[in-house]
Amino acid sequence: MLDFLGDLRRTHTCGALRASDAGNPAVLMGWVNRRRDLGNLLFIDIRDRTGVTQIVCDKESNTALHEKAGQLRNEYVIAAIGRVKKRDPNTVNKNIATGEVELVATELRILNESKQPPFLPGDTVLPNEEMRLKYRYIDLRREAMQRNIELRHKISMAIRDYLSAQGFFEIETPFMTRSTPEGARDYLVPSRVQPGCFYALPQSPQLFKQILMISGFDKYFQIVRCFRDEDLRADRQPEFTQIDLEMSYPQPERVWEVVEGFLTAAFKAEGHDIKTPFLRMTYDEAIRLYGSDKPDMRLPPMADVREAFTGENLETLAISPRLPIVAIRIPKIGELSRNERDEIKPMLTAKGNAKVFEDFKRLEKNFPEAGDNIRKKIAAEPDDLIVLVAGDGKPAGHKSEGGVKPEVKQHDHAVYTAAGLLRLALAQKYAERHGAFTRTGDAAHDFRFLWVTDFPMFEWDEEGQRWAAAHHPFTSPHEQDMERLESDPAAVRALAYDTVLNGTELGSGSIRIHRQDIQRKIFHALGMSEEEARNRFGFFLDALEYGTPPHGGIALGLDRIVMILAGADSLREVIPFPKTARAVDLMVDAPTPVSEAQLKELGIVIRK
Ligand code: ASP
Repeated sequence: MLDFLGDLRRTHTCGALRASDAGNPAVLMGWVNRRRDLGNLLFIDIRDRTGVTQIVCDKESNTALHEKAGQLRNEYVIAAIGRVKKRDPNTVNKNIATGEVELVATELRILNESKQPPFLPGDTVLPNEEMRLKYRYIDLRREAMQRNIELRHKISMAIRDYLSAQGFFEIETPFMTRSTPEGARDYLVPSRVQPGCFYALPQSPQLFKQILMISGFDKYFQIVRCFRDEDLRADRQPEFTQIDLEMSYPQPERVWEVVEGFLTAAFKAEGHDIKTPFLRMTYDEAIRLYGSDKPDMRLPPMADVREAFTGENLETLAISPRLPIVAIRIPKIGELSRNERDEIKPMLTAKGNAKVFEDFKRLEKNFPEAGDNIRKKIAAEPDDLIVLVAGDGKPAGHKSEGGVKPEVKQHDHAVYTAAGLLRLALAQKYAERHGAFTRTGDAAHDFRFLWVTDFPMFEWDEEGQRWAAAHHPFTSPHEQDMERLESDPAAVRALAYDTVLNGTELGSGSIRIHRQDIQRKIFHALGMSEEEARNRFGFFLDALEYGTPPHGGIALGLDRIVMILAGADSLREVIPFPKTARAVDLMVDAPTPVSEAQLKELGIVIRK
């Protein structure tokens, strides 16, 4: 039944034929996308990754051919040989690039048959995602997926080209290595030759790229897979791809310049001209103005309007004057109904340490002067939605309260972040009304990038009751804050930065510690004993002692960048073979149990 290609050569891709090809011979190969049988005339749409062309088989001019065309089914792989013909004006299909022509077939070869697929690439209604992932090869044939994967390729190439032209080398680092500290659980690989020992898959190439600086490769990058075993969300995958880079002797601004350069190239690949340099904002400012370390600047900032109220007002409202009162303003939402207002309070996901005033009109009625002050302070327009979030209760006596810095204390932080979450939830809910998330084609409006800088060096870990590295323990503190390492850890700022786009963190990086004595101090401040530090990072501490140049870098999530550019709502739309929220690959059915023999060889016993 199966034919072979013989001496056939494909002369065109299925999306390439145009009116100017009329009269020329063509050989197309691809899948049967659709077949329409009009009696004497049979139309077949043939598809490959470039598009679709219509093939005509006319019974009168070639009965055998027409009969063969009748045997074709969806997703058969065929070769069609014939001549390109201009379509009659009334049959031109303006929706496809090849719509002005068709191929009048003289010969058809079936290169392979197909079972009836569970869904068709051309279906307008998508099957459920499980089905799409199980039959990923069919799903990937869909035009949208072909486009996403092509986009991914174009973006990677643009980034590679840019970085290479800037003198960066792409250097591979091992996948089978030892645990690297990015704060997630490791995926482990058992060693057969050393029973009881495990490699860890890298959570990132962090220490290797730093060692590459020590090794003299002063500009490194890698588009690299990273592995993190953590609870998954729509925008997380157990294995994901980073654009990882490191350079010697940079100021943070130099790293930012490189990133802005490759993002410009990446966005250009999809036709968007983004503006650089990106806006810069300190972590403290981001928290105060947006209640988040990844501000979405497509909507106006928030403001502390505590001063709009008199002491008496605050007492009546039972609000502590020592905590911020944050005004959220979202333009163009207009008046909310009673029911809509009722829905706001439950949207506040904070743990009971914030209070919402969702009925601004009523508040204004009861406290006209305060209402007026607030409207002025936030420059409110009549159709703005205004919601206030205030601290509930007293400022907590927290470890981080003692010092002068950061300006945003832990208790204020809780109010700002609660307000920030509510701001986003409202923005999502009323996206249609305010329209700020709708793309306009103007890159400056559509893609709001910024750098968030001066992150705190440490985070208080409630569970472990200790300070933890906010970025990772190889991040350098600000020189001026060094003396507070022991006395006031909350006040120590890191030379760490994030790049943020439309409220999504695209990547983070830092200037690193390049001196062994300082590295040791940081481990100490993190409560790590000398012995523990040696055990985990001995090799790295050793390397630091052999002439380490000052260095710094960053890593950005490639999947996320592609997702945003593709306008997709899940990473799974831009990763060819992704895993589900339960970290399962439905197509290959992984993970699976392995044989007794394999386990035995590895010296592993599974505990029931
Ligand atoms: N290794 C860090 C990460 O994966 C990035 C960096 O500091 O360069 O987030």
